[in-house]
Amino acid sequence: MNIILLGPPGSGKGTQSTYLSSAYKLNHISTGDILRSEINEKTKLGLKAESFMNSGSLVPDNLIIEMVSKKLSLLNSVLLDGFPRTLNQAEALDNELAALNKKIDFVFYFDVPPKDLIFRLSQRISCKNCSSIFSKIDKEYICSTNCSEQKLFQREDDKPEAISKRMESYTSLTAPLIDFYDKKNIMININANKQILEVSKEIDELMHA
Ligand code: AMP
Repeated sequence: MNIILLGPPGSGKGTQSTYLSSAYKLNHISTGDILRSEINEKTKLGLKAESFMNSGSLVPDNLIIEMVSKKLSLLNSVLLDGFPRTLNQAEALDNELAALNKKIDFVFYFDVPPKDLIFRLSQRISCKNCSSIFSKIDKEYICSTNCSEQKLFQREDDKPEAISKRMESYTSLTAPLIDFYDKKNIMININANKQILEVSKEIDELMHA
Protein backbone atom coordinates (compact mmCIF):
# COMPACT_ATOMS: atom_id res chain seq x y z
CA MET A 1 0.00 0.00 0.00
CA ASN A 2 1.26 3.51 -0.87
CA ILE A 3 -0.19 6.61 0.78
CA ILE A 4 0.31 10.35 0.36
CA LEU A 5 -0.37 12.81 3.18
CA LEU A 6 -1.27 16.14 1.62
CA GLY A 7 -1.94 19.33 3.55
CA PRO A 8 -0.60 22.72 4.56
CA PRO A 9 2.38 23.16 6.90
CA GLY A 10 1.28 22.54 10.49
CA SER A 11 -1.72 20.39 9.58
CA GLY A 12 -0.33 17.38 11.49
CA LYS A 13 1.05 15.23 8.65
CA GLY A 14 4.30 14.53 10.49
CA THR A 15 2.55 13.63 13.74
CA GLN A 16 0.11 11.25 12.04
CA SER A 17 2.96 9.74 10.00
CA THR A 18 4.56 8.41 13.16
CA TYR A 19 1.34 6.57 14.04
CA LEU A 20 0.42 5.43 10.52
CA SER A 21 3.85 4.15 9.54
CA SER A 22 3.96 1.98 12.64
CA ALA A 23 0.29 0.85 12.58
CA TYR A 24 0.29 -0.06 8.87
CA LYS A 25 3.97 -1.04 8.51
CA LEU A 26 4.70 1.67 5.96
CA ASN A 27 8.09 3.17 5.16
CA HIS A 28 7.84 6.80 6.20
CA ILE A 29 9.38 9.15 3.62
CA SER A 30 9.36 12.70 4.98
CA THR A 31 11.13 14.95 2.48
CA GLY A 32 11.46 17.65 5.17
CA ASP A 33 13.17 15.22 7.60
CA ILE A 34 15.49 13.91 4.88
CA LEU A 35 16.49 17.46 3.91
CA ARG A 36 17.06 18.47 7.56
CA SER A 37 19.33 15.48 8.03
CA GLU A 38 21.22 16.33 4.81
CA ILE A 39 21.70 19.86 6.20
CA ASN A 40 22.96 18.54 9.55
CA GLU A 41 25.43 16.29 7.75
CA LYS A 42 26.47 19.20 5.49
CA THR A 43 26.08 17.11 2.33
CA LYS A 44 26.02 18.69 -1.17
CA LEU A 45 22.23 18.39 -1.23
CA GLY A 46 21.97 19.85 2.27
CA LEU A 47 24.08 22.85 1.32
CA LYS A 48 21.93 23.47 -1.79
CA ALA A 49 18.65 23.10 0.16
CA GLU A 50 19.43 25.05 3.32
CA SER A 51 18.74 28.62 2.22
CA PHE A 52 15.47 27.65 0.49
CA MET A 53 14.28 25.83 3.59
CA ASN A 54 15.26 28.48 6.13
CA SER A 55 13.43 31.17 4.16
CA GLY A 56 10.29 29.03 3.86
CA SER A 57 10.61 28.49 0.07
CA LEU A 58 10.29 25.15 -1.63
CA VAL A 59 13.51 23.37 -2.62
CA PRO A 60 13.78 23.09 -6.45
CA ASP A 61 11.83 20.21 -7.99
CA ASN A 62 14.81 18.52 -9.65
CA LEU A 63 16.63 18.06 -6.31
CA ILE A 64 13.53 16.71 -4.56
CA ILE A 65 12.44 14.40 -7.37
CA GLU A 66 15.88 12.80 -7.60
CA MET A 67 16.01 12.35 -3.82
CA VAL A 68 12.57 10.68 -3.63
CA SER A 69 13.05 8.54 -6.75
CA LYS A 70 16.07 6.89 -5.15
CA LYS A 71 13.98 5.94 -2.09
CA LEU A 72 10.99 4.72 -4.14
CA SER A 73 13.09 2.33 -6.13
CA LEU A 74 14.34 0.73 -2.89
CA LEU A 75 11.18 0.64 -0.74
CA ASN A 76 7.77 -1.03 -0.91
CA SER A 77 4.69 0.37 0.88
CA VAL A 78 5.52 4.00 1.45
CA LEU A 79 3.90 6.81 3.38
CA LEU A 80 4.80 10.03 1.59
CA ASP A 81 4.79 12.99 3.98
CA GLY A 82 5.51 16.38 2.36
CA PHE A 83 5.87 15.00 -1.15
CA PRO A 84 4.63 15.81 -3.74
CA ARG A 85 4.34 19.56 -3.18
CA THR A 86 4.08 20.78 -6.78
CA LEU A 87 2.33 19.54 -9.92
CA ASN A 88 5.74 18.75 -11.44
CA GLN A 89 6.55 16.53 -8.48
CA ALA A 90 3.14 14.82 -8.65
CA GLU A 91 3.60 14.06 -12.35
CA ALA A 92 7.14 12.79 -11.77
CA LEU A 93 5.80 10.56 -8.98
CA ASP A 94 3.13 9.10 -11.30
CA ASN A 95 5.79 8.31 -13.92
CA GLU A 96 8.18 6.81 -11.37
CA LEU A 97 5.48 4.59 -9.85
CA ALA A 98 4.22 3.48 -13.26
CA ALA A 99 7.76 2.45 -14.19
CA LEU A 100 7.97 0.42 -10.97
CA ASN A 101 4.50 -1.07 -11.56
CA LYS A 102 3.18 0.54 -8.39
CA LYS A 103 0.39 3.00 -7.60
CA ILE A 104 -0.92 5.39 -4.97
CA ASP A 105 -3.78 3.83 -2.98
CA PHE A 106 -4.89 6.82 -0.90
CA VAL A 107 -4.23 10.53 -0.67
CA PHE A 108 -5.36 11.91 2.69
CA TYR A 109 -5.89 15.66 2.60
CA PHE A 110 -5.45 17.24 6.06
CA ASP A 111 -7.92 20.09 6.32
CA VAL A 112 -7.19 22.75 9.00
CA PRO A 113 -8.31 26.45 8.95
CA PRO A 114 -5.38 28.84 8.18
CA LYS A 115 -5.57 30.72 11.52
CA ASP A 116 -5.11 27.46 13.47
CA LEU A 117 -2.15 26.49 11.26
CA ILE A 118 -0.23 29.65 12.08
CA PHE A 119 -0.79 29.14 15.82
CA ARG A 120 0.25 25.48 15.63
CA LEU A 121 3.48 26.27 13.74
CA SER A 122 4.48 29.06 16.10
CA GLN A 123 4.08 26.66 19.07
CA ARG A 124 5.96 23.76 17.47
CA ILE A 125 9.22 22.38 18.81
CA SER A 126 11.05 19.37 17.43
CA CYS A 127 13.78 16.98 18.51
CA LYS A 128 16.85 17.31 16.29
CA ASN A 129 17.90 13.79 17.17
CA CYS A 130 14.74 11.77 16.32
CA SER A 131 12.44 14.33 14.58
CA SER A 132 9.67 13.90 17.19
CA ILE A 133 7.27 16.86 17.11
CA PHE A 134 5.81 18.62 20.18
CA SER A 135 3.79 21.73 20.94
CA LYS A 136 4.86 24.30 23.55
CA ILE A 137 1.40 23.77 25.03
CA ASP A 138 2.09 20.05 25.73
CA LYS A 139 2.72 19.17 29.40
CA GLU A 140 5.71 16.97 28.68
CA TYR A 141 7.93 16.21 25.73
CA ILE A 142 8.57 12.48 25.35
CA CYS A 143 10.53 11.47 22.24
CA SER A 144 10.07 8.22 20.36
CA THR A 145 11.46 5.22 22.29
CA ASN A 146 14.61 4.91 20.18
CA CYS A 147 15.72 8.50 20.77
CA SER A 148 19.06 8.32 22.55
CA GLU A 149 19.47 12.03 23.25
CA GLN A 150 16.66 14.57 23.16
CA LYS A 151 17.70 17.87 21.50
CA LEU A 152 14.74 20.24 21.39
CA PHE A 153 14.77 23.24 19.06
CA GLN A 154 12.45 25.58 17.16
CA ARG A 155 12.83 25.12 13.41
CA GLU A 156 14.16 28.20 11.62
CA ASP A 157 11.19 27.93 9.23
CA ASP A 158 8.68 27.94 12.13
CA LYS A 159 9.62 31.59 12.81
CA PRO A 160 7.08 34.26 11.69
CA GLU A 161 8.49 35.48 8.31
CA ALA A 162 9.23 31.96 7.12
CA ILE A 163 5.74 30.82 8.18
CA SER A 164 4.09 33.40 5.89
CA LYS A 165 6.35 32.41 2.99
CA ARG A 166 5.52 28.72 3.54
CA MET A 167 1.80 29.48 3.54
CA GLU A 168 2.18 31.43 0.27
CA SER A 169 4.12 28.56 -1.35
CA TYR A 170 1.47 26.14 -0.14
CA THR A 171 -1.39 28.17 -1.60
CA SER A 172 0.21 28.81 -4.98
CA LEU A 173 2.14 25.58 -5.60
CA THR A 174 0.78 22.77 -3.41
CA ALA A 175 -2.97 23.46 -3.07
CA PRO A 176 -3.54 22.72 -6.82
CA LEU A 177 -2.70 19.10 -5.98
CA ILE A 178 -6.04 18.78 -4.17
CA ASP A 179 -7.78 19.06 -7.53
CA PHE A 180 -5.16 16.88 -9.25
CA TYR A 181 -5.81 13.94 -6.88
CA ASP A 182 -9.53 14.60 -6.57
CA LYS A 183 -9.85 14.03 -10.32
CA LYS A 184 -8.11 10.67 -9.92
CA ASN A 185 -10.70 9.68 -7.27
CA ILE A 186 -8.10 8.69 -4.69
CA MET A 187 -8.36 11.71 -2.40
CA ILE A 188 -10.02 11.60 1.01
CA ASN A 189 -10.69 14.71 3.07
CA ILE A 190 -9.70 14.50 6.76
CA ASN A 191 -10.91 16.98 9.34
CA ALA A 192 -7.45 17.44 10.93
CA ASN A 193 -8.53 20.23 13.27
CA LYS A 194 -8.99 17.79 16.16
CA GLN A 195 -6.97 16.03 18.86
CA ILE A 196 -4.17 13.79 17.52
CA LEU A 197 -5.89 10.56 18.58
CA GLU A 198 -9.19 11.58 17.01
CA VAL A 199 -7.47 12.27 13.67
CA SER A 200 -5.74 8.85 13.82
CA LYS A 201 -9.11 7.24 14.57
CA GLU A 202 -10.75 8.95 11.57
CA ILE A 203 -7.97 7.68 9.28
CA ASP A 204 -8.22 4.16 10.76
CA GLU A 205 -11.94 4.08 10.07
CA LEU A 206 -11.42 5.21 6.48
CA MET A 207 -8.68 2.63 5.91
CA HIS A 208 -10.98 -0.14 7.10
CA ALA A 209 -14.12 1.13 5.30
P1 AMP B 1 8.34 19.98 6.10
O1 AMP B 1 9.18 19.37 7.16
O2 AMP B 1 7.57 18.97 5.30
O3 AMP B 1 7.46 21.10 6.62
O4 AMP B 1 9.33 20.67 5.04
C1 AMP B 1 10.21 21.70 5.45
C2 AMP B 1 10.78 22.39 4.24
O5 AMP B 1 11.52 21.45 3.44
C3 AMP B 1 9.77 22.99 3.27
O6 AMP B 1 9.31 24.27 3.68
C4 AMP B 1 10.62 23.08 2.00
O7 AMP B 1 11.57 24.11 2.06
C5 AMP B 1 11.40 21.76 2.06
N1 AMP B 1 10.65 20.67 1.42
C6 AMP B 1 10.16 19.56 2.01
N2 AMP B 1 9.52 18.79 1.13
C7 AMP B 1 9.61 19.44 -0.08
C8 AMP B 1 9.12 19.17 -1.38
N3 AMP B 1 8.41 18.07 -1.64
N4 AMP B 1 9.39 20.06 -2.35
C9 AMP B 1 10.11 21.17 -2.11
N5 AMP B 1 10.59 21.51 -0.90
C10 AMP B 1 10.34 20.64 0.11
